[in-house]
Amino acid sequence: MADTIWVYAEVVGGAVTPTTLEMLTKAAEVGTAEAVLLGSAPADAVATLGAYGASKVYRGDDPTFDSYLMLPAIEVVASLLQAHQPAAMLFASSYAGRDVAAGLSAKLDCGAITDVGDFQLSDGNVKATIPALGGSYLATSTFTHAGPRLLLVRPKSFEPKHTGGSAVVEAVPAPADAALRKVQVVDRVDVPVEGPQLDAARAIVSGGRGLKSGEAFHALIPPLAELLGGAVGATRAIVDAGWVPYAMQVGQTGKTVKPDVYIAVGISGAIQHLAGMKQSKAIIAINSDPLAPIFQLSDLGIVGDAAQILPLLIDEIRERK
Ligand code: FAD
Repeated sequence: MADTIWVYAEVVGGAVTPTTLEMLTKAAEVGTAEAVLLGSAPADAVATLGAYGASKVYRGDDPTFDSYLMLPAIEVVASLLQAHQPAAMLFASSYAGRDVAAGLSAKLDCGAITDVGDFQLSDGNVKATIPALGGSYLATSTFTHAGPRLLLVRPKSFEPKHTGGSAVVEAVPAPADAALRKVQVVDRVDVPVEGPQLDAARAIVSGGRGLKSGEAFHALIPPLAELLGGAVGATRAIVDAGWVPYAMQVGQTGKTVKPDVYIAVGISGAIQHLAGMKQSKAIIAINSDPLAPIFQLSDLGIVGDAAQILPLLIDEIRERK
C-alpha cells in the first residue's frame, strides 16, 4: 500500500530492541506501520510491537530463522515485499539489519539508503535525510526506482512512543529450500554486562584521554556512573589505548546515545565523538582546557583537573544520598 511502512523487528537479549520501537513509532506517524518478526522472541513481543504502532506483524517463529544466518530471512522478506509492496522497509543499522537489507538489495536488485536519520513519504516516494560529517551537514536522498525501498536507520533517530495499540498476526512459514541453510549458527555467547546499558541509560558518564590512565578511569568513572544509576562510556582514544572495551565507545564508529544527562570527563569533543552524544538532553563537561571544543556544546562546563574534581563530586553525591 502507498503509505504502508514495514519495520524489520529485532530481538536481542530476550527483548525487542529499542531501535525497532523507535522505527515503528516513526513509521506509524508517517503512515501505516507493520512489522516483520522472525526467529525466537519473548511471548509479549507481538503485543510490544503493537503497542508501539504496528497494526500487523508478519511472524515467523520457525527455529530455522535462529539456526541459520540471514539467507532464510532474506528469502522470506523478499517474498513478502514482492507480494505486499509496502512504500518502504526500515532496518536498524545493526549487524542483522545490515545483513538482511544488503541481501535483499542484491536479491531484488533494489537500492538501500544507509545511515538514515529521518525520512518522509513524498508523492509515493521516500525522502531520507542523512546526517554527514558528524551531523554538520544533512544530505537528502530519494529512490529512483519504484521497487522495494530499503532504509537503514541510525539508532536514536526517533523517540519511541507507547501508544497502546495492538497488532494482528499473519504467520509466515520458513522456506524449505536446503540451499538457504548454508551458514549455521553453532553457538551463541552472551557477554555478561553489568549495570545499565549505554543505549537505554538515562545518565551516562564518559571518560577520555584526559583521565591519563586506565587505572584513573576505572577508579573514577564507574563509581560516579553507579551513584547516578547510569552507564559508562568512553572515547575511541581510550578504547584504542586498551583502557576499556569497544562496547563502551560512544561516537561515529561506536554507540549513539541520547541520555537525559551526559557527563564528559577529560574528553576534547572531537566531531566523531560528538556525533554519538550531541543529542543528549543535558551535557556536562569537565576539562582542564577552557578552549576544549566540548564546552561549545555543554550546558554546564567545569574547567579543572578531573583527578581533583571527580573525587569531590563523588563524595558530595554520596553525602547527599
Ligand atoms: P583527546 O582528544 O586527546 O582529548 C583529551 C582531553 O582531555 C583534552 O581536551 C584535554 O584538554 C583534556 N584533559 C587533559 N588533562 C585533563 C585533566 N587533568 N582533567 C580534565 N581534562 C583533561 N572518537 C570517539 O570518541 N568515538 C568515535 O566513534 C570515533 N570515531 C572516529 C572515526 C574516525 C574515522 C576517526 C578518524 C576518528 C574517530 N574518533 C572517534 C577519534 C576522535 O577523532 C578523537 O581522536 C577522540 O574522540 C579523542 O578522544 P579524547 O577526547 O579522549 O582525547
